[in-house]
Amino acid sequence: MNEKKEAVSVPGVNDITIRVVYDNNPYKEGLETAWGFACLVSGAEKTILFDTGGDGSLLLDNMEKLAIEPNGIDTVVLSHIHGDHTGGLSSFLEKNPNVTVYLPKSFPKRFKDNVRDKGAEIIEAEQSLEICENVYSTGQLGMLIKEQSLIIRTDRGLIVITGCAHPGIVKIVDTAKDLLKDNVLLVMGGFHLEWATAGKIEKIISAFRRSDVQYVGPCHCTGEKARTLFKKHFGKNYINIGAGKTITLADLQ
Ligand SMILES: [Zn+2]
Ligand SMILES: [Zn+2]
Repeated sequence: MNEKKEAVSVPGVNDITIRVVYDNNPYKEGLETAWGFACLVSGAEKTILFDTGGDGSLLLDNMEKLAIEPNGIDTVVLSHIHGDHTGGLSSFLEKNPNVTVYLPKSFPKRFKDNVRDKGAEIIEAEQSLEICENVYSTGQLGMLIKEQSLIIRTDRGLIVITGCAHPGIVKIVDTAKDLLKDNVLLVMGGFHLEWATAGKIEKIISAFRRSDVQYVGPCHCTGEKARTLFKKHFGKNYINIGAGKTITLADLQ
């Protein structure tokens, strides 16, 4: 009676740690908060900094407080061009230029040149692509503001991490599901619902339910109204995310 099991079953990572190093929501005492988002994904073949927040010194300060060594990071993934996600990059590259930076192909040439001038390698994401085993980019989605999201395949399902979700959080989740043909364990990051009506938020929650999303961790530009509604609907499967929050697979049981 297992007819829904996909034909190709590749085991995902079974040990992954996500640490939120930059967010406007507070979580861990002693960490600074400011508008923006960044998190560190470790446990896969590559150690990935997803987005860099808006302010380089705040990013590096928070990393230091969390005992994260910039030199231990080999990959940076930038979701989209907005300054609250890319602003910390130059300061980070000054500490460690020996990284590969994945950015949407639509980024301005000047931005790409600056990154190369600092000594980093660039990979431009247009279609979806594999960053390393079990870690993927959705490719750049959206019309006006192109954005890529990160997908991690774990042995329990997919983890989808978004920057601002400008292309639409439901579209991003559907893209991840279509791409990897797996269930969605966790969706986290900015959902961009700060100005959305309760009705629109409820529709998104229903779409998540239909897609069988197990856990949610809305932060950054999700907005308090949406965070409260997600919490109400997901109960213990709602993860309160802010600067300094650590998530492991053990938190997603
Ligand atoms: Zn943002
Ligand atoms: Zn944005």
